[in-house]
Amino acid sequence: MICHERAGFRVGPFFFLPNVTVTSALFHFCNVCPTPRAPYCECKEKPVGNRLLGKIVAITGGSQGIGLAIAQRFAEEGADISFCYRSNKAGADEVAAGIQKLGRKCVGFQYDVGIVSDGQKFIADSVAQFGRIDILVNNAGLERNADFWNVTEADYDAVLNVNLKGLFFITQAFVKHRMDAKTGGKIINISSVHEELPFPHFASYCASKGGVKMLTRNLSIELAPLGITINSIAPGAIETPINTKLLNDPVKLAALLANIPLKRLGKPEDVASMAVFLASDESNYATGTTFFLDGGLTWNYQEQ
Ligand code: NAD
Repeated sequence: MICHERAGFRVGPFFFLPNVTVTSALFHFCNVCPTPRAPYCECKEKPVGNRLLGKIVAITGGSQGIGLAIAQRFAEEGADISFCYRSNKAGADEVAAGIQKLGRKCVGFQYDVGIVSDGQKFIADSVAQFGRIDILVNNAGLERNADFWNVTEADYDAVLNVNLKGLFFITQAFVKHRMDAKTGGKIINISSVHEELPFPHFASYCASKGGVKMLTRNLSIELAPLGITINSIAPGAIETPINTKLLNDPVKLAALLANIPLKRLGKPEDVASMAVFLASDESNYATGTTFFLDGGLTWNYQEQ
C-alpha cells in the first residue's frame, strides 16, 4: 500500500525526499507513478509516509482487528513491530510474515495480557529482541454481555484483568524500561466511547474503559517529567471480530447506523490513522487526552 505521499513530504513550498535532496514545489514524487507529476499525482492509494521510521513499537493484541490494522499501518510508516496475542498462533505467524514482507522486523509473542507476569514478560522479551521500545500501544481488550445482576466474578475478572489491570502493569513495565533508557516515549491506549457513554449490559466493560480514561489523565501528569506522553483513542463501532454478533444482526445494525451521523461503522484502518498521528512527532504536545473516533456517535443525543 504505497502512496504518492511515501516518496517525499512537503515542507513549505518544497518537497523533500527523505535523507536525500530538495526537489521542486512544482512536482510530486510518487513510488507508484513512475514519473513526477505536477502538482499532485492522481494515485488513489491511502496516504502513508515514513512518520515512524526507525521506531520500535509494542502492541498488545496485534493478531486481528484494530491491533492488526495498527501493526500493519505502523510498519508501512517505517516502524518495527513487536506484538502479543492470546491464542491464535497461526494467525499471528501470518501477521508477522506479512509485516516482514514490508521490509520491517516483526515478532509476535503469545502472552496473556490478563496475567501481570505475562505482560511484564512481553515488554522484557520485546526489549531483548529489538533493543528498546519507543512506543507502547495498549490495544488488547474484550467485553462480556450480561445483565448486571448476572455478571459472574469470572467474567468480571476476565474483562477487568485484560482491559485495565493488564494495561496498567504493562504500562508500568514500559515506563520502567524508558526510565532505565533515560529517554521519553509514547503510550497509546485503545479505550472506547464507553469510557464516556453508558452501555447497558456491559457494565464491566464500561468500568474498565472508564478506568482507562482516568489512568490516561493521571499518568499524563506523572509521566510528563519523564518525557512520556499518554493518550487514548475512543473508537465507536468498528468492523472487527469483537462485533461479529452485531454485524450479523441486521436489525441491531440498522438501529446503530441510524445513530451514527456519518452513517457507517468505522474501519480498523480509521483507528490506525489516528494511532499513527499519536505515535508520531506530530502529536508531541498532546497528552492526557482521549481522541474520539466514532462517526459522531457520542454527541448524537437527540430529544426524540
Ligand atoms: P478483537 O476481538 O478483534 O481483537 C482483540 C485482540 O486482543 C486480539 O488480537 C486478541 O488476541 C487480543 N487479546 C484479547 N485478549 C487478550 C489477552 N488476554 N492477552 C493478549 N491478547 C489478548 O477486538 P478489536 O475490536 O480489535 O478491539 C481492540 C480494542 O479496541 C479493544 O481494547 C476494544 O475494547 C477496543 N474497541 C473496539 C471497538 C470495536 O467496535 N471493535 C470499539 C471501541 C473500542
